[in-house]
Amino acid sequence: MATWTCPQDGTENPLAEKRCLVCRHPNMPRIVVLQSVATRKEAEFTEPVKLGKAVFTHRFADPDARFASDLQFEIVRDDERVAWVVRPFAGCVNPTCYDGKPLEASGTELVDGGIISVSKSKMKLKVRFKKN
Ligand SMILES: [Zn+2]
Repeated sequence: MATWTCPQDGTENPLAEKRCLVCRHPNMPRIVVLQSVATRKEAEFTEPVKLGKAVFTHRFADPDARFASDLQFEIVRDDERVAWVVRPFAGCVNPTCYDGKPLEASGTELVDGGIISVSKSKMKLKVRFKKN
């Protein structure tokens, strides 16, 4: 059975358990990496972050940045769900999508290898997790 090791007490927990069975430590990757599919430029985040046209232009140098609003989406740690989630901002010209589907207003859980985009196919950013 696939397991993860709790960094606090060394307990081997089943992957299906999001929190350590002994101490309730959440099993969440510490670092979220976004990579532009078009330019392959990356940015790493360990804290909640708001993204929009300026970041897409300067950090990712992605020509599709022009399709984004000044505030397009945010990435936050959701401690209840024990997951990183992407949440849309209201009033964007083009909707934010995740794996081709519009985001839920409450946020959509990020998964390693997922694709965040503006509309269904613009400004594609690939999600990757790092433990440390
Ligand atoms: Zn533990």
